[in-house]
Amino acid sequence: MTSATHSQGTLPVNGKWSSRCWGISLVCLYIAIVAAPLIAALIHEPSTFRSFWGELGKGLALAGFAILALQAVLNARFRILEAPFGYDVVTRFHRSMALVGLGMLIAHPICLALDMGSLFLFTLDTSWRINLGKAGLLLLLLAVLFAMFFHYVRVNYQTWRVMHKGMIAVVALGFAHAWFAGADLNAFGVQAVFVILLAGALGVFVYRNAVHPWVGRYRYTVEDIEEAARDVYTLTLKPDNGAMPSHDAGQFAFVTLKRPGRRSEEHPFTIPSSPAERGRVRFTIKRSGDFTNTIADTKPGDLAYLEGPLGRFSLVHHDVPYFLFIAGGVGITPIMSMLRYLRDTQDQRRGLLLYANNAEPGIVFREELAALPRNISVVHVLKEPPETWEGETGFVTQEVIRRNAGDMLDRCHVFLCGPPPMMDAVLESLANLGIEPDRIHFERFSL
Ligand SMILES: Cc1cc2nc3c(=O)[nH]c(=O)nc-3n(C[C@H](O)[C@H](O)[C@H](O)COP(=O)(O)OP(=O)(O)OC[C@H]3O[C@@H](n4cnc5c(N)ncnc54)[C@H](O)[C@@H]3O)c2cc1C
Repeated sequence: MTSATHSQGTLPVNGKWSSRCWGISLVCLYIAIVAAPLIAALIHEPSTFRSFWGELGKGLALAGFAILALQAVLNARFRILEAPFGYDVVTRFHRSMALVGLGMLIAHPICLALDMGSLFLFTLDTSWRINLGKAGLLLLLLAVLFAMFFHYVRVNYQTWRVMHKGMIAVVALGFAHAWFAGADLNAFGVQAVFVILLAGALGVFVYRNAVHPWVGRYRYTVEDIEEAARDVYTLTLKPDNGAMPSHDAGQFAFVTLKRPGRRSEEHPFTIPSSPAERGRVRFTIKRSGDFTNTIADTKPGDLAYLEGPLGRFSLVHHDVPYFLFIAGGVGITPIMSMLRYLRDTQDQRRGLLLYANNAEPGIVFREELAALPRNISVVHVLKEPPETWEGETGFVTQEVIRRNAGDMLDRCHVFLCGPPPMMDAVLESLANLGIEPDRIHFERFSL
């Protein structure tokens, strides 16, 4: 994190929790926790295996269990854990570690079989202690496969999330298997590490699911809902019992609307309001699926529970002289928050927005964009322009970027948010234009 020497704004609200130093400390802590059962076993337990394979199998199980226990923590949305990396990075890490943990735990019985010189463990004729481990592994395998492919099996996202919570059972089964199966947890030191890991995972799970919904969210009331563009609506919310902490421009929150006669669901939405705007929070939402298609039915007086702010897609982390913003459709929301922040803090740095839409009625915040201060220019790019249109047409191609931002490309930082195909194409164009990856920041609207 850098100090805000160019801007007249404020530092990121996540403050010290978003620093590089804190991020490195967390990575070291993660590695130490995964290694803890192994180290405890090395110190306290004499080898009981015939070969290297037995030792390896045991080591994989110990580290694999620690990885699984930490999955509950990675999933818990602790702000101090996500702030240095961003919520999307933590989510991706959570997914990758599920694969790593699964791989280790699948390798565990294979190594033990090599040590025993027998395939006994893979028969149905094993004791209940071994079967606990098998059940846990099977559940984990199914969960990982389901997580990877649930988009294709047409399961509702909310149903999938409830099922995913059941994964805490894998941690409990893994613990019971290790505890009772004998060979792994003999010494007090290793047992203590395992008990701490289990208690930590269960504690975080209970906090997240039973306590947090009551104490960790902020209750708001819908004050107003208005159409912001074609199929896009802006909700204005006012706090009921204390406002959510101030956000960095570009951050998002999880929003749960409570509407009579409708199931409440939690969805992530950017907070497009400026951090300088106190008292009210706005969300600008496009109709694009089961839940968002019903957004226009929201009424003043409906309740909303907010959790956040989260994420790291924000200009406040980059103390640079030029900003190139590229947005597509409703992907304008985090960028609008940053533009409002520059405007409201009278920041004099130069910004250019390339804003792509299919057609004119889809342009969100059109009047407000036209009224931004002179240091911020806006170029609209329309796929289906009207006959009288004199601006850019088609897509945000390499040529469009070069034509409009050519003089700032060697120094600017780019902030990109839009539909997935657009983002992929723009990222390729930016790479072709020689913009280094550390100057490109983007947010995908999927977790
Ligand atoms: C960080 C972030 C910020 C966002 N900001 C905005 C915004 O400002 N305005 C806006 O219109 N949209 C925003 N979105 C997208 C918005 O969250 C999805 O469009 C919405 O959740 C889709 O729900 P649905 O039921 O309408 O669509 P569906 O068709 O049911 O879901 C489409 C896909 O959206 C994802 N999704 C659905 N529900 C959730 C959920 N509860 N949590 C996470 N992902 C989910 C899944 O990948 C799902 O496959 C944002 C998304 C993210 C991740």
